[in-house]
Amino acid sequence: MDKNTRICIIGGGPAGLTAGMYLEQKGYENYTILERLDRVGGKCWSPHYNGKRYEMGAIMGVPSYYAVHDVEEFCGITHDGPKLNRNYKDKNGNVIEPFEPKKNILKIPRLLKMKKQMKKFGELLETKYKGYDLNGHRGVAEGRYDGYAVTPGRERVQGENENLKDLALPFAEFCKKNGVELVQDIWIGPFTAFGYGYFDEIPAAYVLKYLDFQTCMNFVKVNLWTWEQGTQYIWECLNAKLKNPARLGSTIEKVERKDGKVYVTVNGAVEEYDKIIVTAPLYIPNKRADGQVGMVDYFDAREDEKALFSKIDYERYDVLAVETKPEDHPEISYYVFDNMVPQRLGRLMVYYRRWKETKDQIITTYALRKHKKSQEIPYEECRQMVLDDLQTMHNPASNVVNEWSVYYFPHVFSDDYAAGWYDKVEAMQDKYDTFYAGEIMAFGDMDETAEYSRELIDRFF
Ligand SMILES: Cc1cc2nc3c(=O)[nH]c(=O)nc-3n(C[C@H](O)[C@H](O)[C@H](O)COP(=O)(O)OP(=O)(O)OC[C@H]3O[C@@H](n4cnc5c(N)ncnc54)[C@H](O)[C@@H]3O)c2cc1C
Repeated sequence: MDKNTRICIIGGGPAGLTAGMYLEQKGYENYTILERLDRVGGKCWSPHYNGKRYEMGAIMGVPSYYAVHDVEEFCGITHDGPKLNRNYKDKNGNVIEPFEPKKNILKIPRLLKMKKQMKKFGELLETKYKGYDLNGHRGVAEGRYDGYAVTPGRERVQGENENLKDLALPFAEFCKKNGVELVQDIWIGPFTAFGYGYFDEIPAAYVLKYLDFQTCMNFVKVNLWTWEQGTQYIWECLNAKLKNPARLGSTIEKVERKDGKVYVTVNGAVEEYDKIIVTAPLYIPNKRADGQVGMVDYFDAREDEKALFSKIDYERYDVLAVETKPEDHPEISYYVFDNMVPQRLGRLMVYYRRWKETKDQIITTYALRKHKKSQEIPYEECRQMVLDDLQTMHNPASNVVNEWSVYYFPHVFSDDYAAGWYDKVEAMQDKYDTFYAGEIMAFGDMDETAEYSRELIDRFF
């Protein structure tokens, strides 16, 4: 492609900003990033409180976050944040140690069985499901893999593997098929508690591309990265380094694609581009209170775009930032496994204490209130349940200082995945001078979105 191509990027989150970085590194400098908010970072949102920053969105990374590491290198920063620690409570607020055999004499047979299944699962993923962990979903539904390995060298790998079609199954079914049901006890913490839905509804592909075996073990061993100034700081630094930083407060009213050009009406004026990369949501099923809309609502969306993107669903993941009295401050972060099942929809799954050395900081809470087969819990009801649960946990909130119902983890369900949703969308890349990136194309975490942008730029520019 001509290096002077005028490229519009919608969204100043990890996907949009890294698209700018990788374009720049390939010699494309004629790009513009349009961000609707007055800040960059998207779901990496780290507000200030009492001289420190807390996390309303993304919290952590793992050592295999190679694209995030590219950004760190580009900006001369590193993961210098507080060490993460966690404990566990049951739904009644008692501290438990679910993985400690001596504390769970009755569960010893299950724990031993789980250990065996973990070993088996690790081997299966390496052999039967070779190619399962590549970034993005190209070819999976057709039994192929094609992309970059999750290794420091990120070598290009390609191949056929019929077994990969199993990844379209909901994760619970996938585990059952392979006789490793108990591994869900390990995967559930960094998956369901992190807002990515329930194992009876979410295709295994999402679970395993995010929590490949190595990444999941990093969570188990708490071998995690954090950033002192919060994850938003990564993206603020990147934005400051880019030749063309994001234009904040950009309201895009209309996008029209005609005669090989892209016309974007932004804050009342029409701008002309050659190509457009969309990292913002492609589709949002119902009107959201925060006014966020899907791409199909302001683009001259074509029939194939509308038909495919209307299959996208997303999670209702709610975050509360609360103050507590010093005597009510939790010792550490707690996971509540009892509340990570659809029967306990809307209840507190995790609460996170970021700063160990001070009690004047924020605690953040996390709850899911939607499950494919259940009635969605209204926002206010969920909020109250979470506050009640904090009481039950003996760490009551004295005040809510910030709250957020996030447009979270766009995905498609098993039928559409198996029917080749991803290959159909991948085949549309550049069809209307438009590229689709961001969370839906790989997975809803910082690294998968940034890595997808890297690959997109590599493939098409
Ligand atoms: C509570 C929570 C916890 C998380 N924890 C982690 C974690 O620990 N580790 C991890 O790796 N990830 C985590 N994530 C996920 C991670 O933050 C996201 O996957 C990542 O930010 C996605 O990047 P993105 O650029 O694709 O999308 P986003 O971050 O959503 O950015 C999209 C950007 O587009 C902008 N935008 C939207 N519509 C328009 C429009 N019409 N015009 C212009 N701009 C628009 C938005 O304002 C936003 O800035 C977490 C997220 C949340 C909410």
